[in-house]
Amino acid sequence: MMKEYIEEAEKDLLHTYNRYQVVLDKGDGVYLYDIEGKKYLDFVSGIAVFALGYNNKAYNDALKGQIDKLIHTSNYYYNIPAIEAAKKLKKVSQMDRVFFTNSGAEAIEGAIKAARKYAFLKDGKTDHEIIAMNHSFHGRTMGALSVTGNPKYQEAFLPMIGNIKFADMNDFESVKAQVTDKTCAILFETVQGEGGIYPATEEFMKQVKALCEEKDILLILDEIQCGMGRTGYMFAWQKFGVKPDIMTCAKALGCGVPVGAFMMTEKVGQNSLTSGDHGTTYGGNPLATAAVNKVLDLFEENHIIENVKEVSGYLEKQLDALVESFDCIETRRGSGLMQGLVCKQPVGEVITKALDKGLILINAGTNIIRFVPPLIIQKKNVDEMIGILKECLS
Ligand SMILES: *Cc1c(COP(=O)(O)O)cnc(C)c1O
Repeated sequence: MMKEYIEEAEKDLLHTYNRYQVVLDKGDGVYLYDIEGKKYLDFVSGIAVFALGYNNKAYNDALKGQIDKLIHTSNYYYNIPAIEAAKKLKKVSQMDRVFFTNSGAEAIEGAIKAARKYAFLKDGKTDHEIIAMNHSFHGRTMGALSVTGNPKYQEAFLPMIGNIKFADMNDFESVKAQVTDKTCAILFETVQGEGGIYPATEEFMKQVKALCEEKDILLILDEIQCGMGRTGYMFAWQKFGVKPDIMTCAKALGCGVPVGAFMMTEKVGQNSLTSGDHGTTYGGNPLATAAVNKVLDLFEENHIIENVKEVSGYLEKQLDALVESFDCIETRRGSGLMQGLVCKQPVGEVITKALDKGLILINAGTNIIRFVPPLIIQKKNVDEMIGILKECLS
């Protein structure tokens, strides 16, 4: 049955993904089910999206209620879900101004535009530069791709947008070496996701922040994957108190309803994008922002961050034990419930084996097994995952 559906899909969908050979049907908690009824423990959550777990009744009911009321209005009118969601997001992000987008890449686009406009208003010039990091990932639109430090993703689509320079994460000297009078922003993921689950160090963040302050360069942090509680803090930068001028958020923000945001301090808000500069038809519509509202409420009510703090220590310990006992694993990297096992060989085969045994995992780069489970997981789910993974590794 699955085989026929997959054949149909491959006739009709543009082949931009090498998909796993499974047709998923429904979910419940931390488990997914395919159309033949096979159960899978999910340690991917739709790539760090479904933080609250599947089939969360309170979340589903909130969306159903909003569907019956109002789904879309455009941004020429106000709507209450967007007003409330912006207020809640400001509170948890410590930012002052919010723009809702439909995706992570669009949040990056907005952040880039805000930074360029901020610099333009300062000196009237149009040659500003942005420094991004090697091995970063910021999305697939042309602007987001331009700041993505992976030539493999860019090559066929050159030329990129201009004046982007690259430095190395956690190498402050390499960042400093790229700074010129034209630099308007420094952009990085607080924890690199696709590039290999690579957290920024406190020292690096503080050095970059000080440099930004000294030269009035904007610090843009991409919290699309590492944000929303995943590291045990609502946003990963909060662990070190290094506050960005602009930050991006998406993935778990709507827990599956497509929504992202870029946010900024009041200083940037008052001195960058203004009416006519930026827009979106869907962005922040009542359905998407009803999801954001409910997600943020449930994070509090269900003590999601506390759970991440508790379970992630256990996950780290169990993964470290695997590093000790399997020669094929080099090391573990990560923060909170965003972890990677760095292997000596490509991990595709292990991931396919795991899927076969009812465990959903994903890679980050070729050699890293990535763990980004729903944030509601319990220690017993970690044990179950480790048990299956061990079988696949031996
Ligand atoms: C996923 C991701 C993006 C892009 O988000 P999309 O919603 O896929 O456009 C950008 N930055 C980071 C860090 C991501 O993980």
